[in-house]
Amino acid sequence: MTAKIIDGTSIAADIQEEVKIAVEAMQATHNYVPGLATVLVGENPASTTYVRMKQKRCAEVGIRSIGHNLPEDIPQEDLEELVGDLNADPEVNGILVQLPLPGHLDEEAVLNTIDLGKDVDGFHPVNIGRLAMKGRNPLFIPCTPYGVMVLLEKSGVEISGSEAVVLGRSNIVGLPVAMLLQKANATVTICHSRTKDLAAHTREADILVAAIGRREMVTGDMVKPGAAVIDVGINQKEDPTKKRGYRLVGDVDFESAKEVAGAITPVPGGVGPMTIAMLLKNTLHAAEMSLAD
Ligand code: NDP
Repeated sequence: MTAKIIDGTSIAADIQEEVKIAVEAMQATHNYVPGLATVLVGENPASTTYVRMKQKRCAEVGIRSIGHNLPEDIPQEDLEELVGDLNADPEVNGILVQLPLPGHLDEEAVLNTIDLGKDVDGFHPVNIGRLAMKGRNPLFIPCTPYGVMVLLEKSGVEISGSEAVVLGRSNIVGLPVAMLLQKANATVTICHSRTKDLAAHTREADILVAAIGRREMVTGDMVKPGAAVIDVGINQKEDPTKKRGYRLVGDVDFESAKEVAGAITPVPGGVGPMTIAMLLKNTLHAAEMSLAD
């Protein structure tokens, strides 16, 4: 069997288009344009690229982005003061503090400072707490995990009653994905670096989400026939045919897994494009909430 390829690029483009239409409607009816403040500390090249991509995609849908580029050695109080100012600014609906922050800064304290109603990354401990609790919902779902869920839903994967296995338990991907799957009534197993027999777990999975950051570690023989495989991993693999000397691959060995799975995301072109699309959706949601106040 060859798996159906889940086209994240196309699903993300559809979401982006929906957001664009909603932003135009908001401008027409309320004369209001959603705003996203991006806060970048230092000059980490990957973070700089991510922030630039987010600003570009905001512009494409008509969301105003307000960039704050701060020096690497900014004191904690100054950063928290800026976040406080953004909390109070009625033109700012979402606040995105690009992580990781330089080592001298207390990341959790900064995230705690963000107004819950502007936490479009969904990393505020209260939002994560609500995600974990039965009968509660967060104001915002973290963007990559949200993207994973949308990919499953748009591909027609039955989540309720399924056996779901999540590889990885990080705060930004593995753990929230597991909590979302559980909320959607899957029976969830979380695997991590101390899991003894990873393959024994993965072979039971109707839904397998890989978020471990280990290049092509999940091979076809670890996949249950017909499973939906969502590959969050982004890893570099040497490739002399490419100008930069490498290409991007996931945590799943795509070639062998696609022969066994029922549906699978490629890397690139799977989860990656969804993350920013969900950020745009969260920013729109924040603006809608502020108008409803
Ligand atoms: P982290 O390094 O924070 O977490 C990795 C997790 O994988 C940990 O829970 C770790 O276990 C577990 N793990 C590591 N090695 C193994 C192993 N050999 N067997 C089983 N579990 C293992 O990574 P992130 O969650 O931040 O990211 C995961 C991947 O997703 C990365 O490749 C990253 O680049 C990618 N990513 C992609 C995004 C996108 O937009 N597509 C967004 C964010 C991340 P333990 O807890 O025991 O250490």
